[in-house]
Amino acid sequence: MFPRDKVCGDGLTPAAVSALKRLGVADILTSQTPVRLWRVTGPTGHHFTAPLVPPAYVLPRRVLDAHLVAAAISRGAEFIHARVTNIERQGEHTVINGRWFARCLVGADGANSVVRARLGVSRHPARHTGVALRGYAAVASGRGLLDVRFVPGRLWPAYAWLFTAGDGSANVGVGTFGSTTRTDRRELSGILTELFPHADLDGDSVAGHRLPLSSGGAKLTAGPALLAGDAAGLVDPLTGEGVHTALLSGLLAGRASVIEPETAPAAYRDMIDALLGRRLRHLRIARGPGRASAPDGGGPGRCCRTPPAVGQVGDRSGAGRGHHAGMAASRPGSPSAPGAGAHPPRLK
Ligand SMILES: Cc1cc2nc3c(=O)[nH]c(=O)nc-3n(C[C@H](O)[C@H](O)[C@H](O)COP(=O)(O)OP(=O)(O)OC[C@H]3O[C@@H](n4cnc5c(N)ncnc54)[C@H](O)[C@@H]3O)c2cc1C
Repeated sequence: MFPRDKVCGDGLTPAAVSALKRLGVADILTSQTPVRLWRVTGPTGHHFTAPLVPPAYVLPRRVLDAHLVAAAISRGAEFIHARVTNIERQGEHTVINGRWFARCLVGADGANSVVRARLGVSRHPARHTGVALRGYAAVASGRGLLDVRFVPGRLWPAYAWLFTAGDGSANVGVGTFGSTTRTDRRELSGILTELFPHADLDGDSVAGHRLPLSSGGAKLTAGPALLAGDAAGLVDPLTGEGVHTALLSGLLAGRASVIEPETAPAAYRDMIDALLGRRLRHLRIARGPGRASAPDGGGPGRCCRTPPAVGQVGDRSGAGRGHHAGMAASRPGSPSAPGAGAHPPRLK
C-alpha cells in the first residue's frame, strides 16, 4: 500500500526534477529544501566541492511515490492494490491474475519484474546488474549536500553516498556496479560505517536492492506489453540513477498505450529512441569497452570495467580543479566520446 518504502538513495537529480515537471507533479518539491552543493571524493581520497546548478533534492521515496500515486488517481486512474502473479494472453487481451483484461499492459514493476518474466523476457544480464544498500541516519549538519565517495578496492567500480535532506536526516548508502563482483549486506554495511562514522544509522532502515544497468541493453517490450523503468533495465550505469528514466519511460509508455494499443510496442520504442536513445547508446559505449585497472587493491592482472567519467573524477580531483562540467565530459577521441564513430544497434 502507499505510502510504502522503496529502497533508494532518494536523490532527485536535475534530470529527475525536470521529468517531474514534465509530468506536472513537481509541486511536491516546493516544500523541500533544494540541495545546492555536492562533494565528490575520488578513489585516491582527493575531493572537490561544487555548486549544484540547478539544484537537486533529497526526498524519501515513501513521500515521492505516494505523491505520484495520488496525482494519478486525481487524474482519473483507478488504483487497485494487488500483487501480480500471473499473466496470460487471451486473444487480443493480456489477462492479469485471471481477473483483469488489458489491451495494452505496462510493466513498471521494478528490477524483479513479474511482467517481464511471465511474458518470456530473460532476466537482465547479471554482469550488468549492480547492487546497492541504503539506510537512514540522523546527521548534525542542517544543510543539504550530496556527498559522493568513490570506493576503491575489491568492489570497484563502487561509490558510497550521504545525501542530507537539509532537515537533519540523511540517506546513506553504497553501491557497486561491477560486472562479476559478489558482495553481501555485511560487507556493504561495513563500508558505510567506515566511511560515515558520524552518521547515526538506523539499523532497521538498512536494505538493499538490484540495479539493472542500461549498459546491459534495455528491453522495452515483452510481446504486446511495454516495460518501463527498472523493469526495462534503464538505470544509468555510471551513476546508478534510475528515477529520471523510470519517470520518463513511464510517461511515454502511458502515452503509447492510449494512442493505439495494437501498435503501442513500436510506437513506444520509437518514442524512447527519440527521447533517450542517444544517451542510452553513449552510456552503453562508455560502460562497455573501457577497461582499466582498479585504482587499488585490485590484485595482479585484475581488471574491471571503469566508467571514463569515474576515472576523470579521480584525475581531476587530484588537481583540485574538478567541477561538474569536468565530470560529465568524455575524453575527446575516446570510445565514449559522443560522435566517436561507434553505433550500437537500435533499442529492442
Ligand atoms: C540503494 C539504491 C539507491 C538508489 N539511489 C538512487 C538515487 O538516489 N537516485 C536515483 O535516481 N535512482 C536511485 N536508485 C535507482 C532507483 O531507485 C530505481 O531506478 C527506480 O526506483 C526505478 O523505478 P521503477 O518505478 O522502475 O521501479 P520501482 O521503484 O522498484 O517500483 C516498482 C513498483 O512495482 C511494484 N511491484 C513489484 N512487483 C510487483 C508485483 N508482482 N505486483 C504488483 N506490484 C509490484 C513495487 O512494489 C513498486 O511499487 C537507487 C537504487 C538503489 C537500489
